Amino acid sequence: MTFVELNKLTKRYGAMTAVNGVDLAIEKGTLVCLLGPSGCGKTTTLRLVAGFIKPSDGQIKVGGRVMSSASGSEPPEARNMSMIFQSYALWPHMTVAENVAYGLKLRKLGKAEIETRTNRILQATKLANLAARYPSELSGGQQQRVSLARALVVEPETLLLDEPLSNLDANLREEMRFEIRRLHDEFRYTTVYVTHDQTEAMTAANLIVVMKQGNIEQAGSPEDIYERPRSEFVAQFIGGSNIFRGKRVGDRSVDCGGGLILDCGSGEFEGNDEVAVSVRHHDMHLTAEKPAGDPNNWATGKVARQVYLGSHRDYLISLPSGETVRAIAPVSVAIPENQQVWLHCPPDRCRALVH
Ligand code: ADP
Ligand code: MG
Repeated sequence: MTFVELNKLTKRYGAMTAVNGVDLAIEKGTLVCLLGPSGCGKTTTLRLVAGFIKPSDGQIKVGGRVMSSASGSEPPEARNMSMIFQSYALWPHMTVAENVAYGLKLRKLGKAEIETRTNRILQATKLANLAARYPSELSGGQQQRVSLARALVVEPETLLLDEPLSNLDANLREEMRFEIRRLHDEFRYTTVYVTHDQTEAMTAANLIVVMKQGNIEQAGSPEDIYERPRSEFVAQFIGGSNIFRGKRVGDRSVDCGGGLILDCGSGEFEGNDEVAVSVRHHDMHLTAEKPAGDPNNWATGKVARQVYLGSHRDYLISLPSGETVRAIAPVSVAIPENQQVWLHCPPDRCRALVH
């Protein structure tokens, strides 16, 4: 069942369109990530959903009711939503328990209920043993946990998170990604999670919505987005890909020039003669020996750079056309710089893209 629905949602600031006619249906109880580079309109979309700003056009419905439109908006406090910002904004003069209980006090709940609900959330967010501490006595990760607890304790129907982990160091970020997913599964609210970090999105989300310049570029499950990117933008932004350009020859083949013909196992050609093909860095197979057999899907080039990274080697290969491609190879494939190599792009890993 659709719970939060964006219809042609648009926000303009003067001549600048921050959100450009976005349509999105969010099922109740799912975790949706808005993912995209800085400036693509993620925060603006989230603030529109929260009710902090009004749309220029289009509307937002929650549970079938219109909450925002160009003609009027319900205030944030009427939406049963909690929003968590990049900065935790905890009250410095209150303990962890007092910070968490604050929202319930504002709602004038009874003392016993405030205590029960606060304790339950402190348990769920693993903060019970820190309840009496002040924010200045907590690590960054613990402070972020408190801001999560504070948002959850009011039992929102919708939880909105804007880059919630960007102030944490790498290890804590990884731990908190799973934590947010666990809490979501435990409480089952509808969550909209904004991030520019694809790993964060892939760990946490049921649905990833990739945004570019105020538009939705592609929406799908993490696997969908990674395995079946539709455009060059998505193929490069999620996971990284080499892009080859060429002309369509035959049914599913692309002539990229310099003798390189790529047979493509997936993607849409859409009747276009100019085609871009993506191949993931780790799907390119490198060899120092000239291959025998079918010449299609083989390129040759020179090793421009090779870096040993423990679990794999990261190669940069320059092709005769002057372009470079990246290849991730097993550590056992050790080919020195400046040596000629052959690259195989398996047809089932070559994907034709829509521009
Ligand atoms: P993101 O969160 O994806 O980084 P934002 O939603 O914050 O992007 O911003 C989208 C675009 O809208 C940016 O170009 C930004 O400069 C512009 N923008 C956001 N808020 C305002 C504002 N209050 N006034 C003018 N321009 C704004
Ligand atoms: Mg932002």
